[in-house]
Parts: sequence; structure tokens; C-alpha cells
Amino acid sequence: MDPLQQLILNIPDTAKPRVVVVGGGFGGINAVKHLDSNKFQVVLLDKHNYNSFWPLLYQVATAGLQAETIAGPLRREFNKKKDFYFRPLKVLSVDVTTQTLTTLAGPLHYDHLILANGSKSNFFGNKSMQQYALGLKSIPDALNLRSQLIQAFERAEMTPDPEERARVLTLVLVGAGPTGVETAGALAELRRYSLPKDYPHIDFSQMKIYLLDGLDRVLPPMSPKASAKAQRYLENMGIIIKTSTMVESYDGAVLTMKGGEQIQTYSVIWSAGVTGDILDGLKPEWTEKGRLLTDEQCRIIGANNIFAIGDIALMKTKDYPKGHPGLAQPAMQMGKYLGKNMEALHQGRPVKPFKYFDKGSLATIGRGKAVADLPGNLHFGGRIAWYIWLFVHISFLISFRNKLLVFANWVWNYFTFDKANRLIIRPYVRRGDTVAQEVFTVNEQEGGK
Ligand SMILES: Cc1cc2nc3c(=O)[nH]c(=O)nc-3n(C[C@H](O)[C@H](O)[C@H](O)COP(=O)(O)OP(=O)(O)OC[C@H]3O[C@@H](n4cnc5c(N)ncnc54)[C@H](O)[C@@H]3O)c2cc1C
Repeated sequence: MDPLQQLILNIPDTAKPRVVVVGGGFGGINAVKHLDSNKFQVVLLDKHNYNSFWPLLYQVATAGLQAETIAGPLRREFNKKKDFYFRPLKVLSVDVTTQTLTTLAGPLHYDHLILANGSKSNFFGNKSMQQYALGLKSIPDALNLRSQLIQAFERAEMTPDPEERARVLTLVLVGAGPTGVETAGALAELRRYSLPKDYPHIDFSQMKIYLLDGLDRVLPPMSPKASAKAQRYLENMGIIIKTSTMVESYDGAVLTMKGGEQIQTYSVIWSAGVTGDILDGLKPEWTEKGRLLTDEQCRIIGANNIFAIGDIALMKTKDYPKGHPGLAQPAMQMGKYLGKNMEALHQGRPVKPFKYFDKGSLATIGRGKAVADLPGNLHFGGRIAWYIWLFVHISFLISFRNKLLVFANWVWNYFTFDKANRLIIRPYVRRGDTVAQEVFTVNEQEGGK
């Protein structure tokens, strides 16, 4: 018998209405937290068994933090919640007629469905980028990128040909939003403080870090003041910024821009945007620009008992006619709102529309350097913005343990000027990269048996 067919979801039938939440990210966990287990049976499905704190993902990729410090097991988060069931399963599709989800462990009926399954990298149809560029959208992505970077420095040490060494040492970030900017800053700090000590024979003035964006400024979602300040910081740190620059193709070694300019590099990091991850079975008329259109109660317009929150949701309001920004705060606030109001929605009672409270945006560029756009048209940068950034990120991490570990890592990094997690735990081998295949995986194979 197929071992998969032996799996069952093992969730008991109940007299209470069942609310199924798909995705245990910022939106999903806040929804689960506020759903009343006395009124509903609550089921959470996530393809991972952990929640990840995406805003610090780039620090895992650039050796500043261990992966475990920015993730927490979902079961631990809810181990005191009654009538709650978690299964680490990917939802494959939704049958909206029978109100059933499909998973590899069988079907699951829902009375109310909350879709909080977030977004995925958007390559805008560029197949070569999809095939060769590194994404930064999950913990495995961050570990791949970390391995790719450390492998590149090891390779540079062993490469006699100066042209080849320059190609190995060239890194390109495509997309100058917060992820691109923060990653570029962290790479510049690695280049300045940690790498010259590890690789004293490499001339790090040869290491080039490019930051490209199709728009005309870095940090396009933030204010022009924040953009200008961030650009100044980055340039002072030696980042080569190319705005109004569209990439055309990449073959794993040569990146070609529209207009013909080329950059020789083995490492292109894609941080140029995301799109909603729409599950099969949802009606095409429910989606717009890769997101699910909802009313102001988070209900998908045209669907009775299916709700969408966070990155996947497109709620057009007077204040946000193009929907809310794809940030953690709207997702968290929508999750809390929906969890709290689910009983009234279930009973068909009127519910006040969702109102987003914008707490502002922050981005850090490096030690003592950050930019902040705060409510009330307040824009500032420098050390104060950096302290706010540190405080906000620590306070939103999932558990006390993670807060403590991240804080300890940051104190270490600050006083030693070192990012200590420069480990190739799982070598990264891009298709066709025979050097990485031969050099970096050989020991793995020995240890695997
Ligand atoms: C690298 C990076 C940096 C960011 N930095 C910031 C920042 O500094 N500040 C900020 O405010 N925002 C930031 N964001 C954006 C922010 O993280 C998102 O807006 C937020 O996570 C959206 O929350 P969500 O609940 O909609 O989705 P997510 O938090 O992405 O959660 C989605 C969950 O759904 C699960 N899932 C997906 N598909 C399925 C499926 N088919 N079946 C089961 N489970 C599924 C996933 O495993 C995941 O756990 C960043 C995002 C990234 C990727």
C-alpha cells in the first residue's frame, strides 16, 4: 500500500463550527490566538512546522543570526489552546462547493476558512531569473544564500585567474526594497569587518556588491527622504547602486540588463517583489493582481465563509484604494481582527470594518544606520532610527527564547564586529555548478550513510 494512503488527518468530528486557518505566519498565528476555542474547533495547517520572522531572514543569510533564532515551532506557540489541532501539511487545493481542503493526509471539511498563506517570490515571468537567481523568501533560501556566499569566498581563495576571482566575488541584489537594502548593508559589513580576517590573502577591494532596481530610487515603499538617506549610507559603504535599471536575463554567470550592460557574477539575489500564492480551486474572479479581493470584514467578495488576510488579501478601502502594504503589521492586525470577530461573523451579526493602524516603516542599513518613517509625517535616520529598529524587531519575535537569542547575537556582533555563523552546513549547488557539486558536497556524501 502507498505509505501516503496510510496517513489521515486524525482531527475529531465536532458539534462546534470548524475554522481552518491555512498558514501560520504573521496573519495566521494572530487569527488562531484570538479565535475562541469555546465557540470553534480551530485547525491550523502550515507546510512548515514553524513560524518564521521574515524581517530578520537576511541576517541568517549573511551569517549574523542562526536560523533557529528567527523561527519558533507552531505547536509550542499553541500548546495551551483547547480544541486546537495543528498539522504540518501543505494545502493543495480548495473545493469551495463541498467546503473541503485537500492535503496529502486526506480531505478536511471547514465551516469557515481563513486563508493566510502569504506570498511567493515574483519573477515577473523571467524564467532565467527563476532558474538561476537565489530567492530570499524562506529559511531554506537563507541557508542556501549563506552557503553560496561562504562557498564563493572559499572559491575565491582557490582561484588563480583574476577575472574568475572577480566574478566569484561579485554579488548582485535585484530589488532595492527593504530586503535588498538590508541585505546589501549586511554584505558590506561582512566585507569590511569579518571577511578580511578569515581570508587575509584575498583583496576585498575586488569584491563588488551591486544593488539594482527598476524604479528610480532605493526603498520605493518608503518616503523620498528615507530613500535619499538610505542611498547615502549605502554609497558610503561602497555599494554600487543602479536605479531605473531592468534586468533582462541571467545564465548563472552573466547578468544582462535591458540596454545591454552586463555584470559577470555567480551570485544574483532576487528581492524584487512578491505575489500572492493563490490555492487551486479558488475562483479566478476572486483574484486581482495575484491577491484575493476581500470586503472590509476580510471576507472574500463573493464567497460566503472564506476569508483572506495578510499578503494574500487585497482589501480596497478609502484610505488604501490599492490594498494594504505587504507588511507584517497589516497581516497581524487583520489576523487579530478576524479572530476576535469570527463569532459575530458566524452568527451574521454586524461587524465594524477593519481599520489598519499604520505604525510606520523602518529599514536598517548597518551598525548605527537606519531610516524611519513614522506616523505624523516624521522621517529620520541614524542611530535613533537604528535603536527603534532593534527594539521593534526584538519585541515582535515569536518567543522569549528567540528574543533572548537574537539579542545575545546582536550584542556579540556589535562588540566583536563579527558575524560568527559563517558555516556551510548544507552546501548550495546550483544546477550546472560542477565546482560546487564536486568541492562542497563530497564530505556530505561520506557523512550521509
Ligand atoms: C525577506 C523578507 C523580509 C521582510 N521584511 C519585512 C519587514 O522588515 N517589515 C515588515 O513589516 N514586513 C516585512 N516583510 C513582509 C512580511 O513578512 C509579510 O508581509 C508578512 O509575513 C505577511 O504575513 P502573512 O501572514 O500574510 O504571510 P506569511 O507570514 O508569509 O505566512 C504565510 C504562511 O503560510 C504558509 N503556507 C504557504 N502556502 C501554504 C500552503 N499551500 N499550505 C499550508 N501552508 C502554507 C507558509 O509556510 C507561511 O508560514 C518581509 C518579507 C520577506 C520575505
